Amino acid sequence: MYCPFCNHRDSRVLESRLSHENSSVRRRRECEGCRKRFTTFERTEAFQLLVVKASGEREPYSATKLRDGISRACAKTVVTAQQIDELIEEVEIELQASGKKEVLSTALGDMVLIRLRVLNEVAYVRFASVYRQFQSVEDFIAELNLLRSTSEASLHANNSIAAAREKAN
Ligand SMILES: [Zn+2]
Repeated sequence: MYCPFCNHRDSRVLESRLSHENSSVRRRRECEGCRKRFTTFERTEAFQLLVVKASGEREPYSATKLRDGISRACAKTVVTAQQIDELIEEVEIELQASGKKEVLSTALGDMVLIRLRVLNEVAYVRFASVYRQFQSVEDFIAELNLLRSTSEASLHANNSIAAAREKAN
């Protein structure tokens, strides 16, 4: 396990956590070279999960398929391939942690959407249009309005936090 900071080969395991009902091991490590700490996730077997489509049909979860969908939504945006990989990894960890053997495709879509929204508004709406199967322009506009009002709300929240800080100083 190479150190992501200095590429040193050896690291010391500080903590290991095995999640039950799946085979993922999370390890907190310290590099023997630069002493920086990092976390690794190791899988002891393939990640197996069934995705339940709207029709009720099941298909095996495929990271490749999910990556294709996200990549399409992120085309010509500033979202990087690494950000997409990290997003998928986060979703998989959450799914593994849940211990479920099946996930609704809409629930999977929502897990991606929550994260895409933070990364890029355009990618978010594009992905939502596929996963939530928007039927009309009105659906699109409704989603955009929702996005605007909630991001404005969080902006206001940030402003009041900043104001409170100024007062405290
Ligand atoms: Zn290092």
